[in-house]
Amino acid sequence: MFVLEKIKEYAATDRAALINREERLSYAELERLSNSFAEYLLRRYGDDRSPVVIYGHKETLILPCIYGALKAGRAYVPIDITVPADRVRQIAEDVQCRVAVDFYGLGLSGCDILLKDGLSDALHSGTGKPISDSLWVKGDEHAYILFTSGSSGKPKGVPITANNLENLHRELMPRMDIKAEPGVILNQISYSFDVSVVSVYMGISKGFTLYTIDKQMVENLGELFEFFEKSRLSYWVSTPSFAEMCIQSDRFRGDLMPELEKFLFCGEVLTHKLVDGLMARFAGAEIINTYGPTEATVLCTAVSVTKEMAADGLQIPIGYPLGEVTLRVADEAGEERPSREQGELLIISDNVGPGYYKRPDLTEKAFFTDEATGKRGYRTGDSCFEKDGLYYYCGRLDNQIKVNGFRVEIEDIENNMTRAENVSRAAVIPVDDGEKVQYLHAFVLLQRSDGLTQLKRATKIKNELKEFLPSYMIPRKIQAVESFPLNTNGKVDKKELRKLL
Ligand code: AMP
Repeated sequence: MFVLEKIKEYAATDRAALINREERLSYAELERLSNSFAEYLLRRYGDDRSPVVIYGHKETLILPCIYGALKAGRAYVPIDITVPADRVRQIAEDVQCRVAVDFYGLGLSGCDILLKDGLSDALHSGTGKPISDSLWVKGDEHAYILFTSGSSGKPKGVPITANNLENLHRELMPRMDIKAEPGVILNQISYSFDVSVVSVYMGISKGFTLYTIDKQMVENLGELFEFFEKSRLSYWVSTPSFAEMCIQSDRFRGDLMPELEKFLFCGEVLTHKLVDGLMARFAGAEIINTYGPTEATVLCTAVSVTKEMAADGLQIPIGYPLGEVTLRVADEAGEERPSREQGELLIISDNVGPGYYKRPDLTEKAFFTDEATGKRGYRTGDSCFEKDGLYYYCGRLDNQIKVNGFRVEIEDIENNMTRAENVSRAAVIPVDDGEKVQYLHAFVLLQRSDGLTQLKRATKIKNELKEFLPSYMIPRKIQAVESFPLNTNGKVDKKELRKLL
């Protein structure tokens, strides 16, 4: 795998692979520790190539675990601490891992657990000798499995292969060029979201330093900006939501990070407001908008946003297809739509992954093989149109939404809300400002009257939901109603419910 070869190459330099607060991990250490982790896996588990779960946040040792798993021929499954224990257990059961690295002592059962201290011992007591590349993850083997919101109420796994990553690498590397040497790239997105791949694979392949911003810094703006100031950041990668949060402060401007050359955004709508703000405050920095789903290895389109795009009446485009990617805009019958007309965006590319983990039913619905090219295709569920070769995003065709950059299936929330003690049904409405979801409003039917005020009841239900759902999936407003309006199909009529907002 390209990234593993590159780590070996940069290990001969004194470059830093990662900065995490006061900790610095050099490429030489990354090479040695990842070899030791692979050695540990191979010694204890031999040929068993089941995935390795990594439960943590932005701990420095996660990086050697990721590359060590790949060197030992295992996929890794990163799970962020924002995911509640109940969901972590569901994921660990789903992948039937033999070993889970657990930085927070969650108490998983059914597999061996490597806690922080045990991991540190395993890494530091290994020989660190190179692992033969014949053992590395390769070809159509899974490199990672990311779990994303599933409409059944259980997270669904999206595996991505070594070949998928090689392809993305080939297509994306030209967009990673910068003048500063060695580059410093933002490492803020949790490893369990695919946009982090841009830093973990492309940044490392470039010999960049990953500059870590953790959850605690994000919650304390003063601290966050101190770290930005020290960062010497040259390459920004995040969802637009994170940059929107930063730009609310006047301190977020060119002189805070004078070496910043590029912003790369992915994962959700890039608004005109953010583009205008960044162009005004970071004159000279390039803004790249990219688009893609986890199922097709992070991103399939890219465009450098120009002043003309920012000024025209259309939304900011999601970009041109990268290299070998073919995009089609199709109607419901699968017929290609004319230019400038909306339809579902289909991606045909070597970026498209093998399908959902152990879910042939879901895979069959969303993935296909393209007859013309023989390549794999994916139905995105995104409504888009094409104009002059550029693609524009117009919203979803289903119940998937983005909340603060996080991908969420509305039914996932609704199903899990009925696990609250007194909720028999739930209907969730995303409330947006015309461009992006601002918050979630849930209507619930109770099993029995509870005598509580709406406010007290909402607080009680939210506390219960923390056990099942990450915080970004918990509706901000929860309102009990006597009954749900139904449409002619007998389904909850959400248009009518919206009138109660
Ligand atoms: P995820 O799998 O979390 O990366 O989410 C993929 C979905 O995010 C896509 O199917 C789109 O709905 C949305 N998305 C990704 N990039 C963009 C973008 N640049 N603009 C608008 N929506 C986007």
